[in-house]
Amino acid sequence: MTDIRNTNGTCPSCGKAVIGYSSAARDYGSPIRTCKGCGQQYLDSRYIELAVEPPAPRDFKAGAGLKIALLGLIIFVISGALTLSTISHHGYYSMKALLTMILSIVLILFGIIDAVRVKTGAKQKSLDRKRAESEQRLMDRSYARLLADLGYNVPDKYL
Ligand SMILES: [Zn+2]
Repeated sequence: MTDIRNTNGTCPSCGKAVIGYSSAARDYGSPIRTCKGCGQQYLDSRYIELAVEPPAPRDFKAGAGLKIALLGLIIFVISGALTLSTISHHGYYSMKALLTMILSIVLILFGIIDAVRVKTGAKQKSLDRKRAESEQRLMDRSYARLLADLGYNVPDKYL
């Protein structure tokens, strides 16, 4: 198996760990990666070729972004209340609570921007563009073969 998802984030050839690997991460793009340690190519099936696989349903739901924004808001209220209360009662504030507050604002903004991008169709446009790029990659027969050899499920029409 040459898929990095089966080796828990280490190169299937030499075992070098990929920095910051998260098995839950998903993105669109070429699943072929080259190891910085040994130079061997391997499959990173956390990346999806949009010409082959459909995008995740959550990418079309504004609700997903709004849920993230709501979560951010809840964290903001809790960490904000904590900060206010320690300042007014004890005259100090916790750096952790303050950092959590800042992070929650980032979460709120990210969620809202994501929802707006779904609503305005900007996200769909970006997915369409990525699908076209994916199609372009797969039209290259040697690329499609390599992808299939590494274990990705490539439809016959590209091979
Ligand atoms: Zn390697």
